[in-house]
Amino acid sequence: MGRPMGLDRRALLKAAFAGGITATGFPLPAALPARAQFRAFPFSLGIAAGEPSSDGFVIWTRLAVDPLGTRGGMTAAPVEVSFEVADDPGMARVIRSGAATARIELAHSVHVEIDGLEPARDYFYRFRAGNAESAVGRARTLPAAGAEVAQIRFASAGCQQWEGGFYTAWRSIAEEHFDFVFHYGDYIYEYRAVTGDRDNPLPRAMPADFGTCYTLTDYRRRYALYKTDADLQAAHASCPFLPSFDDHEVANDWAADTDPRDTPPEAFLFRRAAAFQAWYEHMPVRRVMIPRGPDMLAYRLFRCGGLADIAVLDTRQYRSKQPCGGGFKSDCRDADGEARTMLGDRQERWLADILRGSAATWQVLAQQVLFSPLNWRSFGWIEPSGDAPHRMDAWDGATAARDRVVAMLRAARTPNPVVLSGDVHIDLALEIGRDANDPQSPCVGVEFLTTSVSSGGDGTAGVKNDDAIYADNPHLKYVGNRRGYTRHVVTPRRWQADLRAAARISTKDAQVSTRKSFVVEAGRPGLAEA
Ligand code: FE
Ligand code: CA
Repeated sequence: MGRPMGLDRRALLKAAFAGGITATGFPLPAALPARAQFRAFPFSLGIAAGEPSSDGFVIWTRLAVDPLGTRGGMTAAPVEVSFEVADDPGMARVIRSGAATARIELAHSVHVEIDGLEPARDYFYRFRAGNAESAVGRARTLPAAGAEVAQIRFASAGCQQWEGGFYTAWRSIAEEHFDFVFHYGDYIYEYRAVTGDRDNPLPRAMPADFGTCYTLTDYRRRYALYKTDADLQAAHASCPFLPSFDDHEVANDWAADTDPRDTPPEAFLFRRAAAFQAWYEHMPVRRVMIPRGPDMLAYRLFRCGGLADIAVLDTRQYRSKQPCGGGFKSDCRDADGEARTMLGDRQERWLADILRGSAATWQVLAQQVLFSPLNWRSFGWIEPSGDAPHRMDAWDGATAARDRVVAMLRAARTPNPVVLSGDVHIDLALEIGRDANDPQSPCVGVEFLTTSVSSGGDGTAGVKNDDAIYADNPHLKYVGNRRGYTRHVVTPRRWQADLRAAARISTKDAQVSTRKSFVVEAGRPGLAEA
């Protein structure tokens, strides 16, 4: 936005809408229409806000007149996109406005960082391009540093395979007007599901030419397909997101520069770069997260006044490769290797600093995969090879790394750690032991692993073998097998987690209800049923 404002910009705007821009950025002298016409609605992928701070957030959109078509149906011309931020939903009191340039190099996405706003307040925003105007979205700033905060309400959600089911959870999230949503990853799946869950066909069919994503074009079209969903758009328009990624934004079970196909790292990194670029283009995140080739700085801290510090972690980019060939294993000695890591040295040190310096009531580790130990041998309904009890892709595949994190919590005297996770398409509520790998040891914190939005089919009302599951896992307080999200209601006294689930996702608009609620009292680690 280094160009002077005023007449030049107006001329450029008109030129850009008409597609008449020269390589140097100067408008063509030819006669231009007074108002550019898009041949179809360009805000077909919705709008979003993200990365809230106490004085601002990012607002995002991506122009695509033909979302699944070549280049989203757009030409190579830069397009000026204007934006407004108001403090009322009717957009009557505009307090910020300006313009950004949507460029083909970033798939005509725009990421605008808004700052200088008031803490803990609702704001509203919209975009215009040519003759088109976007919907109005709601964003919200975080509380001021150190402020006493009576309550925050947010959701954890993730694992949203599009063809796997309807986004009823996102519809419900949209209706909740949360302060923000933490997305734990699997925003897209890079592969095409061929069958549904055991007995049901897939509720939605991807276009025939959608296979596995390898190239930037593949990933862009996958995000575009997912983002055409009205319920997902409504969720984004309802509050800011804290996006993170897990494996399927790139490839199943990738780890650092490797994948399970044993692709040579130098080749895999081109795929990772393409996947990261597409992720950036479709997420409301800050400029500091623009990928540099295959690298993206994705771990970061969000402070909610004096109430909660939320560290969003990256458990993919710097981790050790899954030991013993990955999957579920029994007796994998390598999983206990001292050198194994989930966060990498630098991120571990960063997290230790955060925990040491945190003066908040709650310290949140918002991450992607199951942190607590878990014996899976009686989960035959989710993992058919029932006698292999440990999941190598989760922290059970790097037990020394888990030890180090729990040691950090103890060294920092972290008063109230809460770990958030996802990945396995069920709900789990767990108590974390002071000996990280001994679930029977005294509780130092809790973990809420959130079920999928739509991956894995409708699920079941009850859980098979639950007696055996709980007997194997005394620290596991709940397992649920429906699709949904977790609603977290956090106050200085207590943390309540409501496990929200849809009755089914194979049909649209099924009823969403709270299946279970847990409460953690501040200063008394442990889970109690609400
Ligand atoms: Fe998933
Ligand atoms: Ca996986």
